[in-house]
Amino acid sequence: MRYAEHISELVGGTPLVRLTSVTAGLSATVLAKVEYLNPGGSVKDRIALKMIEAAEASGELEPGGTIVEPTSGNTGVGLALVAQRKGYQCVFVCPDKVSKDKRDVLAAYGARVEVTPTAVPPEDPSSYYSVSDRLMREIPGAWKPNQYANPNGPASHYESTGPEIWDDTDGRVTHFVAGVGTGGTITGTGRYLHDVSGSRSEDDGGRVRVVGVDPAGSVYSGGDGRPYLVEGVGEDFWPAAYDPAVPDEIIAVTDAESFAMTRRLAREEALLVGGSCGMAVTAALRLAQRLEDEDPQAAAKAVIVVLLPDSGRGYMSKIFDDAWMRSYGFLDASQGATAGDVLR
Ligand code: PMP
Repeated sequence: MRYAEHISELVGGTPLVRLTSVTAGLSATVLAKVEYLNPGGSVKDRIALKMIEAAEASGELEPGGTIVEPTSGNTGVGLALVAQRKGYQCVFVCPDKVSKDKRDVLAAYGARVEVTPTAVPPEDPSSYYSVSDRLMREIPGAWKPNQYANPNGPASHYESTGPEIWDDTDGRVTHFVAGVGTGGTITGTGRYLHDVSGSRSEDDGGRVRVVGVDPAGSVYSGGDGRPYLVEGVGEDFWPAAYDPAVPDEIIAVTDAESFAMTRRLAREEALLVGGSCGMAVTAALRLAQRLEDEDPQAAAKAVIVVLLPDSGRGYMSKIFDDAWMRSYGFLDASQGATAGDVLR
């Protein structure tokens, strides 16, 4: 018999799938790494497992302790999964822009969820960051993984995501594209891929080019932190989990582009994924087009891996809702509906 002792043992080992429709006219091979196939439904299961195991080993997290984290949802699910097995309590702080669906998922795993306003500066006492600091002081045995600064976030990607991509492409990956939130994914995976491909000959693709993607307005691409709607990516400060020396390039993508591509991925590739996935794929395709324009022969040899962090299930009342999309001007009145079209 082949089975796991607990769902948390099934983190990682996600597959690559080639994008075949949204890539029309491009000769590069574009492979999506489908992170919603992790047991908690996102890439964040990886860092949750590694951060908790490291905190247990260092004694920062003791038996019966409480995990307190400001999280937009996905990290919370990963932490809740692992905590459940190990007998820890979880308290999560979520900004109000995070969909109710996502917050309800955290509560379903047994976590306490505190909701904070998005439109306040980090130093405001009601902010995402301030509230979690206060809970840390108030709850005995509290431990804060702090995904924004914890080196075990990037380390989990160095140890798992990077090697998986290298192995599954037989060492042929030429470009790695991922959205930047805490920066853990791009830093750990990118660093591994740089290290392992550093001595590869130019004929075999040279050193892997690491491309970070952020929402237009976020700091990584030189913005001032102005609001954007895509969830889980972009920041208004520079987290320690992010090493700006790793990405060879940053591409900025607008909300409108991100959400339009997210919808196309569901309709054309049967990949029901979140908004940061549409954002990352938009950048991957822009990169593929640039390679095509520069040197079509080299483009044909390119193997671009783009990481898709989570599932679209948590965004049904937003990105996949026509009324919501129209209310922000992302869908004009003439554009096709989703469910409506099917019913007709
Ligand atoms: N997309 C989503 C939906 C996320 O939740 C996150 C994590 N904040 C990311 C992308 C970015 O990953 P990272 O924090 O590793 O930069």
